[in-house]
Amino acid sequence: MTALMNNYQPLPISFERGQGCRLWDSEGREYLDALAGVAVTSVGHSHPRIVDAIRDQAGLLLHCSNLYRIDWQARLAQRLTDLAGMARAFFCNSGAEANEAALKLARLHATAKGIRQPLVVVMENSFHGRTFATLSASDSPTCQAGFAPLVEGFVSVPFGDVLALEAVAQRYGQRIAAVLVEPVQGESGVQVAPSGYLKALRQICDAQQWLLMLDEIQTGLCRTGRWFAGQHEGVVPDVMTLAKALGNGVPIGACLATGAAADLFGPGSHGSTFGGNPLACRVACTVLDIMEQENLAANAAHQGRLLLNTLRSALTGHPGVAAVRGHGLMVGIELHQPAPHLAKLAALEHGLLINVARGRTIRLLPPLTLGDDDRAVIVERLMALLQSVG
Ligand SMILES: *Cc1c(COP(=O)(O)O)cnc(C)c1O
Repeated sequence: MTALMNNYQPLPISFERGQGCRLWDSEGREYLDALAGVAVTSVGHSHPRIVDAIRDQAGLLLHCSNLYRIDWQARLAQRLTDLAGMARAFFCNSGAEANEAALKLARLHATAKGIRQPLVVVMENSFHGRTFATLSASDSPTCQAGFAPLVEGFVSVPFGDVLALEAVAQRYGQRIAAVLVEPVQGESGVQVAPSGYLKALRQICDAQQWLLMLDEIQTGLCRTGRWFAGQHEGVVPDVMTLAKALGNGVPIGACLATGAAADLFGPGSHGSTFGGNPLACRVACTVLDIMEQENLAANAAHQGRLLLNTLRSALTGHPGVAAVRGHGLMVGIELHQPAPHLAKLAALEHGLLINVARGRTIRLLPPLTLGDDDRAVIVERLMALLQSVG
């Protein structure tokens, strides 16, 4: 029994410190972090510039509320919108909150168009968060169990299927306000959209006057080898959500918008007490500096390609492995049999942090600073792990 609620099942191990791609537990044992707190610590643990930014800002000002201008917030908005080719930003504290803001924009867009019972198109096997609206937008019976009634106004189609979307347009066209999609579905096992898919979505959304809303919470900020995954296809969405890597562990989320969507919120229509505070925004600006100066998009593309190729050749013909797929430093190894236990003590005994998505896909999301040596260690320890469990 503990005084904690029972919603997590933490492993009996506690990390004390981290450096780059490595972690050490309370007994001093070293681990390779191939998960980065689920795509969060993208510039690595204890990056000296992040440490300095936090220390310095803590001695200046942590919080003053959005009743006053926050210069770091304005700076961060400018940086992000420049990088994304978009117009304006709203800041909050998590991915789910960023998607809540996006879904509110979709409703305001519907209201502006005079739609009475608006719908947002979402994808099968999607994950958008755990708040009521984002849970309702997600496709996970386990996460939704027991929470009925959910928020209404979502219709789902298979991910990657343009024809299915066109069919929904035929059926509900007038009621649809937006399409919400992850460029790569992370939580459901690193499902990469077929090439040309996002571009096709952009065209349909333009033709129908729907908002294209990309959930780049996991794929954004260099993870797939570009600043944002939509950029691989030259797609600029109307709305984009970010979180995970943005603060490298300091909680922050962002909802970017462009075109008419950027002007939908008016004074008082949305807000957050902590959102956009000086500490989080300064750290996020520092994360962007590091990503730019250390060329982390290029490094993620390069290391991701090598990691994927090595794993593909090493695992070809492995009896337990059904598929190896990836995009930049998002890599999934799908197994024939469910093996949720793989991510547990066995992996830690091999000195490796990994995750298993939907029970059967090993998911690797190492820091984007990954170098040749650490990449080799991931492969070595992962192969030993797969060997040990047969
Ligand atoms: C993690 C994640 C979220 C939810 O983010 P939280 O910060 O946990 O609320 C939403 N969408 C995607 C694609 C994610 O990977």
